[in-house]
Amino acid sequence: MSTYEVVIGIETHVQLATKTKLFCGCNNDAREAEPNSYVCPVCTGMPGALPVLNKRAVELSLQAGHALNAYEGAKEFHSKFDRKNYFYPDSPMNYQITQFDEPIVGKGYVEFPVDGETKRVGITRAHLEADAGKLTHPAGTDYSLVDLNRAGTPLLEIVSEPDMRSAAEAKAYAQELYNLMRYAGVSDANLYYGNMRFDVNVSLRPVGSKEFGTRTESKNLNSFRAVAGVVEYEMKRQAKILDKGEKIVQETRGWDENKGETFSQRSKEEAHDYRYFPEPDIPPLVITEEMLVEAKQAMPEQELSRLRARLLATTPALADKVEALIAYAVHPEVTPGVDVCAEYLAAAESADSSESINRTMALWLIGSLKPVFNELVEAGTQIILKSEYLFSAAQLVATGKLNSNSGKIVIQDSVSTGKAPEDIAKNKNLIQNSDTGALEAIVDEVIAANPGPWEQFKAGEQKVLGFLVGQVMKASKGQANPPMVNDILKKKLGS
Ligand code: ADP
Ligand code: MG
Ligand code: ZN
Repeated sequence: MSTYEVVIGIETHVQLATKTKLFCGCNNDAREAEPNSYVCPVCTGMPGALPVLNKRAVELSLQAGHALNAYEGAKEFHSKFDRKNYFYPDSPMNYQITQFDEPIVGKGYVEFPVDGETKRVGITRAHLEADAGKLTHPAGTDYSLVDLNRAGTPLLEIVSEPDMRSAAEAKAYAQELYNLMRYAGVSDANLYYGNMRFDVNVSLRPVGSKEFGTRTESKNLNSFRAVAGVVEYEMKRQAKILDKGEKIVQETRGWDENKGETFSQRSKEEAHDYRYFPEPDIPPLVITEEMLVEAKQAMPEQELSRLRARLLATTPALADKVEALIAYAVHPEVTPGVDVCAEYLAAAESADSSESINRTMALWLIGSLKPVFNELVEAGTQIILKSEYLFSAAQLVATGKLNSNSGKIVIQDSVSTGKAPEDIAKNKNLIQNSDTGALEAIVDEVIAANPGPWEQFKAGEQKVLGFLVGQVMKASKGQANPPMVNDILKKKLGS
């Protein structure tokens, strides 16, 4: 019996959150639709039908590329589509439009914590392609049913380097991609609906050996548990074969969730079997620097994910909460499964809030947490922050009782003293003056004292608004509520 080291590489199919399919105007969200109701001549491969590339799919792919750190220092580059030829009953075109040698996302990497250490996994590439339809095999019948609603859905296939060395690393990598794709707004990343599917490649080699062993690929896994399960099972199965002096067959395998076992499906095809050639119906893409910059700007969450990475590595207990808040800020429509978010939502709701206040709260929290935590982490301080305090501070800001800066002070103080934000705010005299009558009186004083700027503002010069608000803030000793002051000034303009 020799000891082996496991080598793992993962291919991940991510369904992009576009409204329509990759090459036609059919609805891309067929979750509850009647089979074959979201189809047209293009996605059913009718003769003469021509594909038109979905711009949004390109934009989302570029955002994914940023999240995968694939465009560092990139300027302009080219990308193109290719035909991959094969027959499958759920793919009426007889070929798949995908990308072969010029993918939209090139080399990158992701980093995430496993067992207290930071693990880096290389990204080989990610290519944009159209999904196939779906086959169902009704029990007890001798026929299969085809549903083409999913045919033509845009997928981004993210291919990792064979950089993982344990089931825990494989699972953490899958979770990391899931988070990245959600935060970048690239995908709804709903595992239940198959928005993300993992193909896990596993091989063994004797410890100390430099060469890789023969791998198997277990396809279409839709849970993190399955990813870990496949690795654990394949490690045992392959070790037994190798111990007997036999060879591993390179093949595609499936995963039996109930048995916790993989099973053989088919032997592996080689790339040249597919006769790839450049797709003649879609012109090559030129990705300009401007497009890259725009894609980056469309994802302010980039900053968040950096903060997140740091928090995950340094304060795992708190990271959970930040995780939930970020997820919520980015995707308010998806309720994350962490209890802290439920608390947060309850707090937000009782504050007579709307969706937008929830979002404001989450975004403010994340924005203000960053500097606070950076400081504390650098100072090596242990962070103790009750989630209810986190919420009440955000609530004070979102309802206008604290301005954003006072909110930060309050959080900082709460972290070091353990006191409730409300008490801190009162003790420090930070509660904003939101009494309309009192504020109007101050605004009137300021207008009277600054006739010049007021005339300018009346003449339509928006930039003096900031000055006037600033004067009111000063006159109120920092306790006026800036948005309210804004409103009052604008109202006075109309009167
Ligand atoms: P395909 O499965 O389409 O033939 P690739 O050659 O692109 O694809 O590789 C698929 C995946 O298999 C990649 O994620 C890669 O890291 C991984 N991989 C390649 N060789 C091995 C190996 N010997 N053991 C484990 N994973 C591997
Ligand atoms: Mg593969
Ligand atoms: Zn269509």
